[in-house]
Amino acid sequence: MKSIQKKTRVGILGATGMVGQQYINLLVGHPWFQVTHVVASSNSAGKSYGEAVEGRWHMKNALPETIKKLMVYTVDDLASVKKNCDFVFSALDSDIAKIWEEKYAEAGIPVVSNASTHRTTSDVPMIIPEVNPEHLDMIKIQQKNRGWSKGFIVVKPNCSIQSYIAPLAALHKKFTLKSVIVTTMQAISGAGHPGVASLDILENVIPLIKGEEEKSELEPRKILGSVKGNAIVSDTSFTISAHCNRVPTIDGHLACVSFSCEKKPSEKEILNAWKNFKGVPQELDLPFAPIQAITYTDEANRPQPRLDRDNDKGMTVSVGRLREDPVLQWKFVGLSHNTIRGAAGGGILIAELLKAKGSV
Ligand code: NAP
Repeated sequence: MKSIQKKTRVGILGATGMVGQQYINLLVGHPWFQVTHVVASSNSAGKSYGEAVEGRWHMKNALPETIKKLMVYTVDDLASVKKNCDFVFSALDSDIAKIWEEKYAEAGIPVVSNASTHRTTSDVPMIIPEVNPEHLDMIKIQQKNRGWSKGFIVVKPNCSIQSYIAPLAALHKKFTLKSVIVTTMQAISGAGHPGVASLDILENVIPLIKGEEEKSELEPRKILGSVKGNAIVSDTSFTISAHCNRVPTIDGHLACVSFSCEKKPSEKEILNAWKNFKGVPQELDLPFAPIQAITYTDEANRPQPRLDRDNDKGMTVSVGRLREDPVLQWKFVGLSHNTIRGAAGGGILIAELLKAKGSV
């Protein structure tokens, strides 16, 4: 991993939650970033981070002593956040994010957000670094629109679409997507902690994740859209229909995807498009970038959440089972780790790209 001399100081909003803990976990030893500020609800504020997560630290790795000692702040303490860090990752619930993220940006603090609040805001870029890095051009326009000087908001999309958006983006560029039908099987950790009650999810599948299907049908169009004038204009040339289900796996969102394109690609053309999908430019040497943004497996019964979610440090999208679809043209299975690629790892990769571009 590339290292730089002075680490950028990072704050985490919602630091004690499922995604916040994953940020802490993944940022231990990060060569560019150092966690120096943590924010949570008034139940946790005023305690040390170690006290605040006592009995509810869900990561496999032990909590480092330096992080244990950090004091937890309330979200409204903008003076402390300005003093303690250079930018923040927001892992707040969307109703809290709605109140605070703009105030942070207005106060000069860049925000990389996991919340859904600003995903449909037309001057807020929603970034998957391998797919639409050019949307970061929107930051300057956003600052001008809002009269902000240093602060801005960049968001990461919904966790489940990351299991298939890169494979679809690779195909859209070459063959122009027309129709997509996706059925997701989403892990329990996607609902935060404690999430879904065990009596509801064990030996069961819940065919509703509130708001998820709407997000899955809208967000890919914005990601594959383009910057025009003062806004990002969604690509409406294709349609997605989504079924989103909660299933009893702990981590890893699986997606079964059928699609058709303007002109039907061959199997070889699809596999080549995935194999040659570039990802972030290697010369940027981003520490969290996967070696392969899309990893295709020929094994007939893969990818599987338990076996494949951690591939390439949880940052690659594992794809398999490409076969012809008798209704649309082709179908495949995609998988990504929802709290890494789909949440904290995806946020870290965005921040690394911002750092490489000098925006944080
Ligand atoms: P979570 O486990 O419920 O954590 C929520 C966090 O927000 C906790 O740190 C909580 O602090 C804090 N919080 C609650 N009220 C607050 C307030 N008034 N002021 C400041 N902090 C407050 O939720 P999560 O799963 O980590 O999700 C966080 C966000 O990421 C959500 O917007 C979610 O939709 C999004 N997301 C989640 C996933 C996933 O896989 N889980 C993936 C992508 C995006 P306390 O501990 O003190 O209560």
